[in-house]
Amino acid sequence: MNLHEYQGKLLFAEYNLPVSRGKVIFDAKDAIDACDEIGGDKWVVKAQVHAGGRGKSGGVQLIDNPEQAIEFAQKWLGNRLITYQTDAFGQIVNSILIEECTDISQELYLSAVIDRDTQKIVFIGSSEGGVNIEEVAKNSPEKIIYQGIDLDNLNNQEDAISIAKVLRLDDVQTKQFIPMIENLLRLFVEKDLCLLEINPLVINKNGDLHCLDAKINIDSNALYRPVSYTHLTLPTKA
Ligand code: ADP
Ligand code: MG
Repeated sequence: MNLHEYQGKLLFAEYNLPVSRGKVIFDAKDAIDACDEIGGDKWVVKAQVHAGGRGKSGGVQLIDNPEQAIEFAQKWLGNRLITYQTDAFGQIVNSILIEECTDISQELYLSAVIDRDTQKIVFIGSSEGGVNIEEVAKNSPEKIIYQGIDLDNLNNQEDAISIAKVLRLDDVQTKQFIPMIENLLRLFVEKDLCLLEINPLVINKNGDLHCLDAKINIDSNALYRPVSYTHLTLPTKA
């Protein structure tokens, strides 16, 4: 089962991973209140569908006026968004995530999947984020690391450090990255994920790591567990 970005970010927040202040709306009339509650003078509005590529298809927009959030919501709610990851009919947009705007200095790629052959969780990392990772894999495979994690030795920081090197993180960012990998692993195992993708994981203008997108797929065999992912609300205060 795929989660929406806002649901994924709620889980990230629960696991102490850095996400943006934000609010999800299901009705255009709630757009201004959401912007007010988040605060600031620039926001990003994001159509929630189970597909990436929204940025290139008009499904993610930077705005500097809450009126534009209403326009964006009126344009997309109830309509279909087509991206290169959807079929030709696209996907219906039922909710919009409004979040604070992050000043980005670099976009990186990080994901985790299960490798059935080695029975390990494998992290995939690249310094080339925000783009189609398949293209990077084809054109510059040396920029991608596939790091299997030894689940019997979760306190081993070497794996995180190896990934940090390929992401070209400095010492301060590497110190942030090590607990980030620990938290992502806990999330992955405790919530029975089969895929987790942060594209982009960014370095913001302060030099800190920040999760700007969230794609999560939960193993369907685990859905009997009594967990609801829809009741959660994103933090709107710092
Ligand atoms: P998708 O993967 O569907 O295109 P993303 O969430 O990755 O959607 O957003 C696309 C791009 O929009 C990102 O690579 C980033 O450059 C920008 N972006 C997304 N969210 C924010 C934000 N909160 N602040 C600033 N820029 C953002
Ligand atoms: Mg993305």
